Amino acid sequence: MSNHSSLLDDRVMPTDLDEPHEECGLFGIFGVPSAAEFIYTGLFAQQHRGQEGAGMVVSDGTRLRYHKGVGHVHDVFQAENIHALGGSMGIGHVRYSTTGASRPQNVQPLIAECVDGLWAIAHNGNLTNAATLRRNYQRSGSIFQTTTDSEVLVHLLADPHYRNRCQHVGRALAELRGAFAFLLMTRDCVMAARDPLGFRPLSLGTLDGGYVFASETCALRQVGATFVRDIEPGELVQVTARGLASYRFAEVAPRTAQCVFEQVYFARPDSNIFGYNVHQTRIQYGMQLAKEHPVEADIVIPIPDSGVAAALGYSRASGILFDMGFIRNHYVGRTFIMPEQGKRARGIDMKLSIMPDVVRGKRVVMVDDSIVRGNTVQRRVSFLREAGAREVHVRISCPPIRHPCFFGIDFATTTELVADGRNVEQVRDYIGADSLGYLSEEGLLAPFADGPRKFCRACFNGDYPADISQMRGKLDLEERQAEEGVGHE
Ligand code: SF4
Repeated sequence: MSNHSSLLDDRVMPTDLDEPHEECGLFGIFGVPSAAEFIYTGLFAQQHRGQEGAGMVVSDGTRLRYHKGVGHVHDVFQAENIHALGGSMGIGHVRYSTTGASRPQNVQPLIAECVDGLWAIAHNGNLTNAATLRRNYQRSGSIFQTTTDSEVLVHLLADPHYRNRCQHVGRALAELRGAFAFLLMTRDCVMAARDPLGFRPLSLGTLDGGYVFASETCALRQVGATFVRDIEPGELVQVTARGLASYRFAEVAPRTAQCVFEQVYFARPDSNIFGYNVHQTRIQYGMQLAKEHPVEADIVIPIPDSGVAAALGYSRASGILFDMGFIRNHYVGRTFIMPEQGKRARGIDMKLSIMPDVVRGKRVVMVDDSIVRGNTVQRRVSFLREAGAREVHVRISCPPIRHPCFFGIDFATTTELVADGRNVEQVRDYIGADSLGYLSEEGLLAPFADGPRKFCRACFNGDYPADISQMRGKLDLEERQAEEGVGHE
């Protein structure tokens, strides 16, 4: 583990290139004593959004102090780090990245000195025009210190073309494409923004006269804050000693593209994401799944934790007994957000223990949230058979994932997706189940009012709501490299 902690005048960061894709968690606060303690709690509550790095920057009104490092929140922060970060405002970040990007220099918040002072930046999402912006700035002499896509915002903020505080932040944000929820901070101001299509969540709360921002509402509750509202797509919110002000940096779009996969898998069940409680949504998914794909069986078991609510829903709607066929080891990270294939494979063995007495001799419905590469569900089906299950029927609470995500969630390149080029029967055969049923796209949107106009589901149907031509070129290159055996680093 490598941690950085300092006043901001001693940063030396090496430069190299790797993957920008990431899914992360943000937490920011303004106007409370001991901001660092709240940020620590808020990051801890969102640990599931990123387990590879954590950091926070705190201001006492005159100076910024930071501490960040690679690892879980409780690895990175010790009591002495928290106490050293004195100040009443700050922002924090938990980070997930893909291959090759788990490096200290990429841990956020990023910090940069511009002509008007220090800026700290924390980003959740994926900027689809980052490579172009980066290349343009590099051609004009700019030097990048990290390999994250987020750093292009630093250069936009420093660009004299966009100068003048909030207006200039809005103008800089308007240059970005793709998915972003940002928290930004100067020594006397915290800002929060979401991209015009609203891919990633970001909520606003209040706490003892101060303001709190978090990717997920579970973090607001964890610090005792009261939820006020979501930051609107295309909105920039600024909090200073004068209070809260809201600006639009983009017109209200005729549709949004909020990530439905936050509801399916990523968000914590006790969060309300885009106005809907995640747990309740997943129960509805399970009930719908039972209607769409009924089967005669003895028990319904979930893949814990994210499959639990959907399995409950399936059990309720079908009348089939719910039980726990697998027990989760909570001290192993979620395999989906581990960075390397090797780590994924090892994580699968460690993560779940089967309960043979529950499944032996039974016809089992196994409910999971999604199938990405297929190797995980394949092994779980075989675990069930080895434990004596008579039949294994797999039910998945989202449609087949056939397309990569360019907006912040690390789905494999297309060729690694098990449903790419396979129909449902072929996937069933691959995973070794007796039957396989996916939730339909209609079922996926059923819990939401006006779902088709509000939610992105491009990974299911390939209908990308934003221009991904630059990313597609990059993906093609990666897939060619993978085929030719060329890896990162
Ligand atoms: S492509 Fe899928 S995972 Fe990516 S933002 Fe859209 S719904 Fe979410």
